[in-house]
Amino acid sequence: MEIKYKKISILGSTGSIGTQALEVLNEIAHDTKIHYLSAHKNISTLEKQAIQFQPEGIVITDKDSFDKFRDNTKFKGNILFGTEALNNVASDSSNDLLISAIVGFAGVMPAYNAIQNNINLALANKEALVSAGEIISRTAKLNKKEIIPIDSEHSAIFQCLAGESKENIEKIILTASGGPFRKLKKEEFKDITLSQALAHPNWSMGKKITIDSATMMNKGFEVIEALWLFDLNPDQIEVLIHPQSIVHSMVQFKDTSIKAQLGSPDMKLPIAYALTAPDRKFLNIDRIDLAKIGKLTFETPDLEKFKCLSLAFQSLKKKGNSNAILNTANDIAVSLFLENKIHFTHIPLIIENALNQINFIAQPSIEDIISTIEETKKYTLKNYKAIIN
Ligand code: NAD
Ligand code: MG
Repeated sequence: MEIKYKKISILGSTGSIGTQALEVLNEIAHDTKIHYLSAHKNISTLEKQAIQFQPEGIVITDKDSFDKFRDNTKFKGNILFGTEALNNVASDSSNDLLISAIVGFAGVMPAYNAIQNNINLALANKEALVSAGEIISRTAKLNKKEIIPIDSEHSAIFQCLAGESKENIEKIILTASGGPFRKLKKEEFKDITLSQALAHPNWSMGKKITIDSATMMNKGFEVIEALWLFDLNPDQIEVLIHPQSIVHSMVQFKDTSIKAQLGSPDMKLPIAYALTAPDRKFLNIDRIDLAKIGKLTFETPDLEKFKCLSLAFQSLKKKGNSNAILNTANDIAVSLFLENKIHFTHIPLIIENALNQINFIAQPSIEDIISTIEETKKYTLKNYKAIIN
C-alpha cells in the first residue's frame, strides 16, 4: 500500500531532518511526487536533490546562494528566491503535505501559512510552535487540522495516543537524554567548549538543535511544543532524564496505566510515522536489543544546572509573546556561541535578559509575534556584549 500523500514539499530539505525525510520517502513512497524543496545556503546538496527528485521547483532563501545556484544549475524546474517564495510554497494548495524541517524562527510564518491555508503539516521545526503555538494551534483547530509531529518525543506521544481519548490523559512524560553535560558539576559549566557541546551522546542532528540539547533548552521547547500539539496544561507535562534515549516518551492515563514508545534513536522512524500514521511501513533501520541494553534508567532534571530549561518553564507559564522572546533570544545566543563569540554559560544570561527587557504582550496577533521576533533579534545582537560583561 502506498502512503496517502501524493504531493509533498519539504522546507529545509538539505538539513539533517530534510535529507532523512527524502531518504524515507525514497524507501516507502514510490508514488509520491516532490512538489518543492528549499534550502538556505547548502546549494550543493540542493542541486543533487533537485536532479534526483525532479521537483516542480526549489526555493533558496540566501541571496548569494540563490545567485550562484541559478547561474550554475542543471535543474530545469522553477528556481525561486526568498522568504516570500517560501511562504507561497507553504500556502500552495497543490501540496498534500508540507514537511517543515527549517531550523529556527525562520519556520514560524511557513508553518502558520500552511495551517491557515488548510494544508497538512508535518512539523520538525518546533521553533514555530514555541514562538507562535497559541495562534498556530488555534488556527489548526478552526480548520480541523491536526499538526503531525516529527520530533521523536512528540511522535512517541502521538503513537501512544492512537486509539485513546484525550480526556483519559493524566499527564505526559517527555524523556530527555540529558545531553553531554548531564554528569558535569555546575561549577564546571564555565569550561565547556564548542566541540564538547557539539558532541551529542546519542543523536546525530543539525548544529543548532545539538547545542539546544546540550543546554537542555531543546527539552524546554519540547514541553511548549507538547502543550500546543496535545492541548494540555503546563502541569500535565513532566520531563524525565533517560540517558539511553530508548524510551522516546510516555503517556500516563487516569487509571494510572503508562504507555511508552521505544525504539533506537533514529529520526527515520518518527519521519515515517508522520507519513503513514496510524498505519506503519517496514523500515530498514536498527532494531533495539533490550537484553543487550540491559538497563533503562530515569532521573529528574537538575534545573539549577540547566538554567535554560528553567527559563523555558517560567516562560511557558507566562504565555503571550514570552515564548517568542525565549525562542529568538536563544536562536541568537546559540548562533553567537557557534561563532565562538560567547561562552556556553552566557546563553541563559542573554535569554533571561531578553525575557526581562522586551515588551510583554498578553494576547499577541501573528503580526505581534513577528515584530517580537524582530525586536528581540535586534535587541539581543545590540546588547549581548554588555549583558555578558
Ligand atoms: P539543520 O541545520 O540540519 O537543517 C536546517 C535546514 O533549514 C537546512 O535545509 C537549511 O538550509 C534550512 N535553513 C537554515 N536557515 C534557514 C533560514 N534562515 N531560512 C530558511 N531555511 C533555513 O537542522 P535540523 O537538525 O535538520 O533541524 C531542523 C528542525 O527540526 C529544527 O527545528 C530542529 O529543532 C528540528 N528537529 C531536528 C531533529 C534532528 O534530529 N535533527 C530532531 C527533532 C527536531
Ligand atoms: Mg526531540
